[in-house]
Amino acid sequence: MKRIALFPGSFDPFTKGHEDIVKRGLKLFDEIIVAIGYNSKKANRYFDIEYMEEKINQTFSDTPEVSVLVYNELTAQIADKYEAFYILRGLRNTTDFEYENSISQVNRDLNPKLETVFLITSAELAAVNSSIVREVHRYGGDVQKYLPYDL
Ligand code: ADP
Repeated sequence: MKRIALFPGSFDPFTKGHEDIVKRGLKLFDEIIVAIGYNSKKANRYFDIEYMEEKINQTFSDTPEVSVLVYNELTAQIADKYEAFYILRGLRNTTDFEYENSISQVNRDLNPKLETVFLITSAELAAVNSSIVREVHRYGGDVQKYLPYDL
């Protein structure tokens, strides 16, 4: 059976940090589905969700093992729908850990087939953060070096 992982997130925007997690995740999984979710706290996105979907597809156009979807339901439910029984997440620091710890426990409570697998961020990408990229972009700064595609 294929090992399929979901990589859920807001990806507002998708950064080189996210790309690194996907590439390293491919050493563990046969397929990775990058799942762009509507997060209730982040209902007002900065980058349009369809635009980001296109940019992530473009980033992995030579990697058929990676696909992209937009979803608006529970991660634990879409995992079943796509037979993706692993959730891939990146861990940068203790703040990420506190948050990831609870969502991982709740996801497994909701769907006992699900295991979350965490990859520690690569040191050179630890500071790359979607909210900082948004701020820099908002005030006209150059964010291209943090992104794996041309904006
Ligand atoms: P969310 O809003 O669900 O936290 P994000 O789009 O911010 O979604 O992040 C998705 C995942 O990518 C999270 O697991 C996050 O920890 C991870 N991530 C974000 N930036 C990096 C980075 N620079 N290095 C490694 N992992 C990262």
